[in-house]
Amino acid sequence: AISSTIRTYAEGVWHDGDVPVMRAADHGAWLGSTVFDGARFFDGVCPDLVAHCERVNRSAEALMLTPTVSTADMVEIVREGLASFGPGSAVYIRPMYWGIDGDPTAIVPSAEATGFAVCLEEVGMAPPEKSARLTRTRFRRPVLEDAVVNAKAGCLYPNNARMLVEARQRGFDNALVADAMGNVAETATANIFMVRDGEIFTPIANGTFLAGITRARHMVNLAGDGSPVRETVLSFADFESADEVFMTGNMSKITPVTEFDGTHYQIGPVTRRAREMYWDWALSERD
Ligand code: PMP
Repeated sequence: AISSTIRTYAEGVWHDGDVPVMRAADHGAWLGSTVFDGARFFDGVCPDLVAHCERVNRSAEALMLTPTVSTADMVEIVREGLASFGPGSAVYIRPMYWGIDGDPTAIVPSAEATGFAVCLEEVGMAPPEKSARLTRTRFRRPVLEDAVVNAKAGCLYPNNARMLVEARQRGFDNALVADAMGNVAETATANIFMVRDGEIFTPIANGTFLAGITRARHMVNLAGDGSPVRETVLSFADFESADEVFMTGNMSKITPVTEFDGTHYQIGPVTRRAREMYWDWALSERD
């Protein structure tokens, strides 16, 4: 068991008592070596919690941080914290690691010690009628040679934040984002799917964007329903001839897209079926 007197939750944040909070001199604060993951608790379930815990450990390794908490212990820590929320609560779950101290004369984080915390916050689920309008952003996903795109790293998100700010300034909800080759990669906060003539497509996981856990779950559900998703290279023009478009991510699970820069979409049968299958699967996981 992971519980001990110094390892505990305070105000919704689980602390490893040896490294209680991030300090200004920590590598994570000073140079941005932070990784995190996002999972949800709602209706008594935490869909794909194990996969989210596994991914934050892989993200840490990609940033040369030593993951100090096993997946099994992390799941236990999360479940322990969730016990203090009511069964009807919707909680956003963020496990995170960061580089601590390190040598201020070097830029490499400490290899031995790593900060770890889990933040649990009550954040309501988006209402099912919520949809999104997208605009093309000029900001792009970097490639692995430019940035640690193989990690869910905090340092990637200021780039995504400016995509969102730009989109909102233009009166849209989110941005459709290209990879460095100019093909569609994802949105600023979620993965993207499109349906055309009954076929379902999503950008091929080429390592430049987060091929999400929710994306994979929807692909399994759709394939099991006889509607396999084709991973392929998609251009912005492809989205101008789509019949349906939807976004997937841990926060909302699935969000229908109703517009991309003047091209309008119906919330169609594939989007509705994907949503229904996701919730059926998620609720079937309830203990
Ligand atoms: N892309 C980005 C940039 C994201 O922040 C997220 C949310 N984590 C996703 C995609 C979706 O990933 P997941 O389904 O694993 O949450």
